[in-house]
Amino acid sequence: MAAPSGDFGSPGNRDVVLEPAVHYVCQRCTNCCKWPGDVRVEEDEIAPIAAFLGLSEAEFIGQYTRLRSNRMGLSLIEKQNHECVMLDGNACRIHPVKPAQCAGFPNKWNFPGWREVCEAVPVAALNLTSKVQR
Ligand code: SF4
Ligand code: SF4
Repeated sequence: MAAPSGDFGSPGNRDVVLEPAVHYVCQRCTNCCKWPGDVRVEEDEIAPIAAFLGLSEAEFIGQYTRLRSNRMGLSLIEKQNHECVMLDGNACRIHPVKPAQCAGFPNKWNFPGWREVCEAVPVAALNLTSKVQR
């Protein structure tokens, strides 16, 4: 899949269109793990991710993060092909503790044209019997 262009990949974009009646169920296509750009790690996410990886917070920050492009916080680093450093084949190495930016897409934030690059399947939110997380 070609990576989207423009200022995608960030909950900070202003053109989010949410659909309260629909929940999109992730199909683990990993497309959103392959876009260039920041994968924001918030301050309160550092300790759980570090612990999950068996690292100290300083080790995790030093080995796996960089400053965001706006220098306003930390992002996971990316591989040379722009995949997230935590993507291992088709799996996320830190799935149980992945950043909110990852867990929130596309239901809590998205961008114009996101359906063209995301394979999540829509279901009626009212029909959900349990909380669904991607
Ligand atoms: S942390 Fe996991 S879910 Fe988030 S972009 Fe990286 S590989 Fe994908
Ligand atoms: S949220 Fe969409 S793009 Fe990301 S892995 Fe799930 S289906 Fe693919």
